[in-house]
Amino acid sequence: MRTKLKYPIVARSGGHSYEGFGIGDKDCYLVVDLANLNKIIIDVNSQTAVVGPGNRLEPIYNKTSEHMFAFPAGTCPWVGVGGLITGGGFGYLNRKFGMSSDNILDAQIVLANGTVVHSAKKHPEIFWSIQGAGNAGYGIAPLLFSVMNKLGSNIHPNITFLIRIAPEYLSIRGIYIGSANELQNHIQEFVKLSKPKNITYTENTLYHALVDGMEGTEIKGKVNEIGRHGTAFVHRGFLYHMEIKITVNSEISEMCLQEFDNFSQEFRRNYA
Ligand SMILES: Cc1cc2nc3c(=O)[nH]c(=O)nc-3n(C[C@H](O)[C@H](O)[C@H](O)COP(=O)(O)OP(=O)(O)OC[C@H]3O[C@@H](n4cnc5c(N)ncnc54)[C@H](O)[C@@H]3O)c2cc1C
Repeated sequence: MRTKLKYPIVARSGGHSYEGFGIGDKDCYLVVDLANLNKIIIDVNSQTAVVGPGNRLEPIYNKTSEHMFAFPAGTCPWVGVGGLITGGGFGYLNRKFGMSSDNILDAQIVLANGTVVHSAKKHPEIFWSIQGAGNAGYGIAPLLFSVMNKLGSNIHPNITFLIRIAPEYLSIRGIYIGSANELQNHIQEFVKLSKPKNITYTENTLYHALVDGMEGTEIKGKVNEIGRHGTAFVHRGFLYHMEIKITVNSEISEMCLQEFDNFSQEFRRNYA
């Protein structure tokens, strides 16, 4: 027997939507959990992979690294690939390889009317939309940002920095795709100008560097080579990606949350 449901339907991939969109953000949504659509098939010859949208990033990083491949995606290994890619997908390899969504070759999707489109690539407007249309203490930082602004996109594309500004410290971590020796040459100017208190270089596999996880402000490279209208991901032509987080503990007051909200609204008004 077929019954027409009155509930709106949402897909959930990794459940990492900040806004709770993976569960509809309010009551009475029918949630389609994609967790079992989790195949990862790697074709070594064509250097491509078929990935189910229920995967989180960790197994993708794991499987691709087994073949010495990499996929440019998020810094948090537990984000779902479904929500990440539809939102663009930023992380350590963006400067070199672009957004996650720039690396999608094709997709099979179910339209709102239940029709299955086996190759989104054959429907340019659908393909365009899945490429990033979205899913739904600064005191000590000026020197650092002025150095970043000065060097700008001249920073080598194999480097992505993440700047972490916390109440107690300011740190810059990053990934260089290559050896520690090469990196030291490429960041001489940056080190000279930004005068860090100490520096460490660690050689590691990409998998471990990514799964260790780091978050902060990133500097963009390859992402900006595509125009604002090239794909559905419109946030191009900028130097930084910025993620502002608040950790809630017993000392956070309502006033503090309100100030944070005011800050983010003013920031968006002035800069977004
Ligand atoms: C701790 C944390 C760290 C993060 N780090 C990064 C990062 O490094 N880089 C980055 O780019 N983003 C990052 N994000 C943001 C994250 O990419 C987005 O919140 C993304 O939407 C989460 O995707 P998800 O599949 O895990 O979430 P979900 O809640 O499952 O889904 C998010 C949205 O996408 C829709 N959706 C999911 N799968 C599909 C599908 N297959 N088809 C259609 N719609 C779908 C859902 O309906 C929902 O609207 C982070 C988020 C968190 C919470």
